[in-house]
Amino acid sequence: MSPEHLLTTYVRRFVPAEADLGSWEQVEPLFHALLHRPVESPEALEEWLRDSSELAAALSEERTRRYVAMTLQTDDPDRERAYLQFVREVQPRAEPLWFQVRRRYLELRARFPLPQSRYFVLDRDTENAVSLFREENVPLWIEEDELEQRFQKVAGAWTVRFRGHEYTVPQMTRFLEEPDRATRQEAWEAVVRRRLLDREVLDELYDALVGVRHRIAQNAGFSDYRAYAFRALGRWDYTPEDCLAFHAAVERHVVPLLRALYEDRRARLGTDRLRPWDLDVDPDGRPPLRPFASASELVERAGRVFERVHPELGAQFRFLTERGLLDLESRKGKAPGGYQATFDERRWPFIFMNAVGVAADVRTLVHEAGHAFHALACREEPLLSYRHAPTEFSEVASMGMEVLSLPHLDLFYPDPEDRERARREFFEGAVRLLAWIATIDLFQHRVYTRPQHTREERTNWWLEAHRRFQPVVDWSGYEEAEACLWHRQLHLFTHPFYYIEYGIAQLGALQLWLRSMQDYEDAVARYRAALSLGGSRPLRELFDAAGVTFGLGEEVVAPVARALAESLGRSPHLSH
Ligand SMILES: [Zn+2]
Repeated sequence: MSPEHLLTTYVRRFVPAEADLGSWEQVEPLFHALLHRPVESPEALEEWLRDSSELAAALSEERTRRYVAMTLQTDDPDRERAYLQFVREVQPRAEPLWFQVRRRYLELRARFPLPQSRYFVLDRDTENAVSLFREENVPLWIEEDELEQRFQKVAGAWTVRFRGHEYTVPQMTRFLEEPDRATRQEAWEAVVRRRLLDREVLDELYDALVGVRHRIAQNAGFSDYRAYAFRALGRWDYTPEDCLAFHAAVERHVVPLLRALYEDRRARLGTDRLRPWDLDVDPDGRPPLRPFASASELVERAGRVFERVHPELGAQFRFLTERGLLDLESRKGKAPGGYQATFDERRWPFIFMNAVGVAADVRTLVHEAGHAFHALACREEPLLSYRHAPTEFSEVASMGMEVLSLPHLDLFYPDPEDRERARREFFEGAVRLLAWIATIDLFQHRVYTRPQHTREERTNWWLEAHRRFQPVVDWSGYEEAEACLWHRQLHLFTHPFYYIEYGIAQLGALQLWLRSMQDYEDAVARYRAALSLGGSRPLRELFDAAGVTFGLGEEVVAPVARALAESLGRSPHLSH
């Protein structure tokens, strides 16, 4: 999409231009208009759909605008108040009305059938959402939400006193890159000790979460929460058995590679035992990479990377820069972390991060830019739900941009040795991520299919998964820390079953990388074509459009692992 198209404005036709969307009194009548408007033809139904999409986009933009403003300046209480007002007063009231809007859509569609070539995904997802709804689950969803909030509160309070200073847990991770081993160990132990203080609380919270989720599933007519979650997450293209096949394939093809990488790391560190605090340091004792010195340098270099991937992506990134749709540098008062959000009404992406000049910042910006290009690629799609793809594919857009930018890393790392190091770190990261995803996913399969388990059984399942996928690292003396390691994985508490998506996407992105080594321009062209479909097609078709195979099993994992091994200088026979 060329820059002049990025300037198109989408004028409201249904929501009044001057409506205050933070006021429920002004929002509610719009829902009633949708619920009661006479619809007497397929054309009128399509118009009705566009109008409900317009309302959804306007509400979403209102929330995003307030969220972005708050995270840009967390010490401004007015911004926080404005955001909380919206999520507490508008959003919860809108949700039951959205349910009625969906139900009305199904009724209208039964009378005025729309072409399935266009509406298949929308119809399938709407039917699914309506069929899973149970009145008696409403209080259970609130209970689940409250338990999740309690987890957020517990984990959010984790700070550590280390060598005279107070640090948050994310801030502590940088000490794990310290060449001095004693410093790393001390920092690692401090974090583990802090988490273990909440062991009992977290185990209790998890017991309660598993219990309430199991009841939600039973109310909806499912035998267990796993079966329910697969439907609720819209997993039409894979089953629990496919996930088990992923675990087996990772064990067979990825774990041996991880073992070889860790053995190599151990040898280079010159130690006989690789410990949990040895995993993030440069094994050759070099200081951290410094790919840029300021946010403006980061933007300028990243812009040239995207220009080289494709001139239109370069132009899009310049557009984001000129429009103030990037806020990259770390400064006092900004929320931690990084994210990409879309202003759904203007149909513009926004990238937020806290760049400080390290290699991870480059990866984060390239990743989030992939999401931003995705949003721009399907900007002209009238239906909001089709402007967002399911995570299994939207992460191909972001991780795919990471692999497509690999040949252009010289812009950040002119020194070939630095470049090679950044490349290796990227591929090692991919190997570790696949193994970790298998660990987390297997654990959840066990937990939710046997909801009456004891804590001891649960610990054993965790240890079994952890030892199956995490080789070499010596945990002796830290048995309790290993047994509770899963407490640090937020998704287990707040986004149950949501994790394998990253594995599926990573496999897609790595296949794209393989294609790009055969024919770079063709790989980029397919990537862009797939992005332009947004979420309008089923998952498999999105993968097909990108020229990669959708799958979780051996047939996809084995060739990807082989390529990773080669790229990391490990021939497969050495890695066994
Ligand atoms: Zn992402």
